[in-house]
Amino acid sequence: MRLLSIIFIISTFFSTSYGQSVKKDAEIFALRYAVTKSKDPISYVALNAPDSVLFEPVFMFWLIKTTSDKMILIDAGFINDDESFESRYNLKTYQRPDSLLQKIGISASDITDIIITHPHRDHIDGIDLFPNAQIWMQKEDFNYFVGDSWKLDPAEHGYMERDVLKIIKANFAQRLNLIDGEKEIFPGISVYTGSRHTFNSQYVVVETTIQNIVLASDNAYSYYNIENSVSAPSYATRDTIGYAKQLDRMKGFVQDNKYIIPGHDGLVFERFEKITDDIVRIE
Ligand SMILES: [Zn+2]
Repeated sequence: MRLLSIIFIISTFFSTSYGQSVKKDAEIFALRYAVTKSKDPISYVALNAPDSVLFEPVFMFWLIKTTSDKMILIDAGFINDDESFESRYNLKTYQRPDSLLQKIGISASDITDIIITHPHRDHIDGIDLFPNAQIWMQKEDFNYFVGDSWKLDPAEHGYMERDVLKIIKANFAQRLNLIDGEKEIFPGISVYTGSRHTFNSQYVVVETTIQNIVLASDNAYSYYNIENSVSAPSYATRDTIGYAKQLDRMKGFVQDNKYIIPGHDGLVFERFEKITDDIVRIE
């Protein structure tokens, strides 16, 4: 009887300390920096989907506040000072990514690292807002972005010349880190490839003590793509079979598909706890 109560006390102690360690875990946020004026048919981003289903395309990036001194962004948004953004995206609202971060008390200089999922303008253009950040990008994606892509019609690749200059300048400043395929970059934070949204786009899996969270970016365009296991149409990937395969692989990382965070779906801001306007905590 006495032994049992000692075991009970010990197990209570350990479950309590486990609870505390959960609280100290990395925090993950989605930040919505721009919204478009109208909803789009889901068929724009999912093969063979009905035109009647609509989704709200939004622009977001993600923040991982680690328990170490790392403050990591996944993508950096864009700086809306070029008319091409308005005409291309039909924007209703926009706030600069660094201003949005200030709403949760984080200044641009606090960001230590940025993992770029792919070099489209809405994901890479904001890198120079964060002067202290080391930038992490897939080597093959970088090579194509600064090299062969410019032999094509610009409309075909969707990149911006000024973003090429920004990433080259980051390299001169010893701030560029090229990743060769799949790798754990920081403890519990790994990148995966194979969706080929761009030449070799990557997504991020974050292990927390409670669960894994997949920050898919455009490697899972919307929840519809995830829930129906359908590939994005050909303009959103260079490999429709590979894209669908990675959607299935992402499901293997999580307990619930809700924890695969798509790149452009406004539903992210309904499914998670609101911290302030345009910012939710993913947990
Ligand atoms: Zn995008």
